[in-house]
Amino acid sequence: MSESFTLGWEEWASFPALGIPAIKAKVDTGARTSALHAISVEPFGPDKNPQVRFVIHPIPSEPEVEIVCAAPAVDRREVTSSNGESELRWVIEAMVKVGGREWPIELTLTNRESMNYRMLLGRTAIRDGIVVNPAVSYVQGKIGYKVYADFPRQKPVKRPLRIAILTREPNNYSSRRLKEAAEVRGHVAEMINTARCSMGINTLSPAIYYDGRRLPRYDAVIPRIGASMTNYGMAVIRQFAMTGTYILNPAAAIGASRDKLYAHQLLARAGIGMPSTAFAHSPKDTKTLIELVGGAPLVVKLLESTQGRGVVLADTRKAAESVIDAFRGLDANFIVQEFVKEAGGADIRCFVVGGKVVASMKRQAKADEFRSNLHRGGTAESVKISPDERSAAVRAAKAMGLSVAGVDLLRSDSGPKILEVNSSPGLEGIERTSGKDVAGLIIEHLEGQVRTVSLPKPSRRKSALKAADAPELTEIAAIKASGDAAGE
Ligand code: ADP
Ligand code: MG
Repeated sequence: MSESFTLGWEEWASFPALGIPAIKAKVDTGARTSALHAISVEPFGPDKNPQVRFVIHPIPSEPEVEIVCAAPAVDRREVTSSNGESELRWVIEAMVKVGGREWPIELTLTNRESMNYRMLLGRTAIRDGIVVNPAVSYVQGKIGYKVYADFPRQKPVKRPLRIAILTREPNNYSSRRLKEAAEVRGHVAEMINTARCSMGINTLSPAIYYDGRRLPRYDAVIPRIGASMTNYGMAVIRQFAMTGTYILNPAAAIGASRDKLYAHQLLARAGIGMPSTAFAHSPKDTKTLIELVGGAPLVVKLLESTQGRGVVLADTRKAAESVIDAFRGLDANFIVQEFVKEAGGADIRCFVVGGKVVASMKRQAKADEFRSNLHRGGTAESVKISPDERSAAVRAAKAMGLSVAGVDLLRSDSGPKILEVNSSPGLEGIERTSGKDVAGLIIEHLEGQVRTVSLPKPSRRKSALKAADAPELTEIAAIKASGDAAGE
């Protein structure tokens, strides 16, 4: 191929074999691989011939136009995008057509919803005498979105979802309520015992086995991972995520919230109010630790504490020193925290779902106790929270990356102070005290997050494809010297 073929910095492309008649691509020699916008990416097919199915909305301003594509999966690759985030992406091979030329390229599949171009043509696709002139656009002609004129416009259909509730306690209140709430809304919910899942770690065909049988694909997973299963549970969740399932609370977010030290660092980084907190490992640091939180009285907490079990109040400096020395002697990981006396033995649980506090309750410790945990004899009642408290709770869940969270805070003289963010918050106390259908609100949120796949009618699609090839629809290239924001 000796004749040179010029591409501008933006071009119209099509993928006849995928059923995509027109897509606007940014030609970017700064990027190595090409990328295609895709959602609901889902592997299928036998291990020997792995395929991926995905949904594409080729027109940024018209998400009602939806095309379901399938292509052979050639790889999965860790790709770092220009915003520095890395992501494991499916790689497909497809024939791209620009102007009169058609050639095979590799494409990574990723959600480009927030990008200006639904496709990126990277430098590995630019070969065989292809020349890029970054000063011009649409050298190979314009197709335009008119080719989609007779594609069906579809309102997202609500279809029953197949939901897995990942729990070791299928009979507890929270698990039962989630299943019930899903079923009330017409979905199918199955309890999957985390401990009985085994995994085949395979790049192109990730699978999860349950008591030795391969699990079907779920639309969504609701993780309810107990503290004793955090690590294995996270691995199981990551495996579900690899199969394209929507995960209500991602593994990394659960891990962050479980690690009290890391959680505090994340909250501090997000500028969220919390009690002054210190952590150290060296035995010589007892005095520094006490100074760092402003002296006694102070609270010492074991990092793996739950239900208030590993939380101790030291009234005096002397008491603080002996508690810290004792914990250290046990080689335990702990934090030292300022005691928020004015909270008066009460804390507030804010239940966050999808960036909103949907219910809240106040837990009051019994007399002579500062820990308000219900397991320590505390009592719960419904409470009205302030806008500051609401905002702190929402920001704390967001800092952790949790879409469902139980955020505990103390009312202090200087505003709300976050104590902890729970990634599998119990539903019993909060539903009983608030009288709200919190389980239902969780399922509703999940419905909004899971993309449903609806197939366009095949006959119409064929005619649209013909239209794409019709010359009268191909306008002559308009040479544009400077483009709009490229924004990658
Ligand atoms: P756990 O994870 O074991 O529940 P928490 O950090 O939530 O540990 O502490 C348990 C309870 O102790 C809290 O609900 C709160 O009532 C009380 N508490 C914890 N930290 C403080 C503090 N710094 N000041 C005052 N009370 C506290
Ligand atoms: Mg607690």
